Amino acid sequence: MEKRITGHTGLMALFGSPIGHSGSPAMYNYSFAKLGLDYVYVAIDTGTDEIEAAIAGMRTYRMRGGNVTMPCKSAALHCMDELSPAARLIGAVNTIVNEDGRLIGHNTDGVGFVESLRDEGVEIKGKTMTLAGGGGAAAAILVQCALDGAREIFVFNRKDEFFGRTEELAEKVRSAAPGCAIRVCDIADADVMTARIAESDIFTNATVVGMKPMDGESVLQDTGVLRPGLVVADVVYNPEETRLLREAKEAGCVCIGGRGMLLWQGAAAFRLFTGQEMPVSEVKELFLR
Ligand code: NAD
Repeated sequence: MEKRITGHTGLMALFGSPIGHSGSPAMYNYSFAKLGLDYVYVAIDTGTDEIEAAIAGMRTYRMRGGNVTMPCKSAALHCMDELSPAARLIGAVNTIVNEDGRLIGHNTDGVGFVESLRDEGVEIKGKTMTLAGGGGAAAAILVQCALDGAREIFVFNRKDEFFGRTEELAEKVRSAAPGCAIRVCDIADADVMTARIAESDIFTNATVVGMKPMDGESVLQDTGVLRPGLVVADVVYNPEETRLLREAKEAGCVCIGGRGMLLWQGAAAFRLFTGQEMPVSEVKELFLR
């Protein structure tokens, strides 16, 4: 590392809090070194009250790019000069590219999800999906799956502060992707959710349920609906195998964990920063297995 960093080395960073556990610095720095790209990537603990100053720093230090994670993704949106269509719809930015002083905000979470399905041989085009969740991850998935040609998406969420936002987002997505039918429902209607999963190709959990400290829980009450061939995806990556995925595996479903989404959203950001492909299979082997 000391040989690699010179007076010319460009800086990139991840902003958010907490951030010490992040695998992004290892993933990006390995890829920069492997491809001979003269950048270094660090994680900078940043609260929502500091994100504006942090992003101003990107301009000052002429940083080529940066990533934004919780809880700063929405606040970062307002500091951009331009937004990608997905970031605008989702209302959150996770990737910032500095194009000669103009900061372009992207959101690669949805692309990361779609790519993680593709990596397991599952295409979203023409598919019906039941999606549990209405927060940031679910919004990114809803938008990207609709833009990428999903036929029908049934979204289930609690009647909390995310519910109304999901209904508003669904309206915008219907206009942007009229070929995709979207319905937003209350997750408390467990029978309705079971019926929708029964007619879906894919069931995705994009809530925090299953993540530590809720790792003993699952959004799915009726595991009888799990069947061989149903694709079950969980965005939660800590633990790697959630209760939902364990139960889905037992039922013979095709199981896709959240680590793939994490990897592929990073790979999409890497492409935006560098114009090159991240050495994904090596990164997967070294950092995600
Ligand atoms: P968020 O705070 O924006 O949304 C939280 C969601 O969970 C909302 O839909 C909320 O209604 C729901 N929820 C909260 N408590 C619940 C409960 N008890 N029962 C049912 N629903 C409940 O969070 P987010 O950013 O969308 O993150 C959600 C999960 O996705 C987290 O586990 C996060 O780590 C994960 N995530 C993974 C990736 C990845 O790359 N794999 C990317 C982003 C987020």
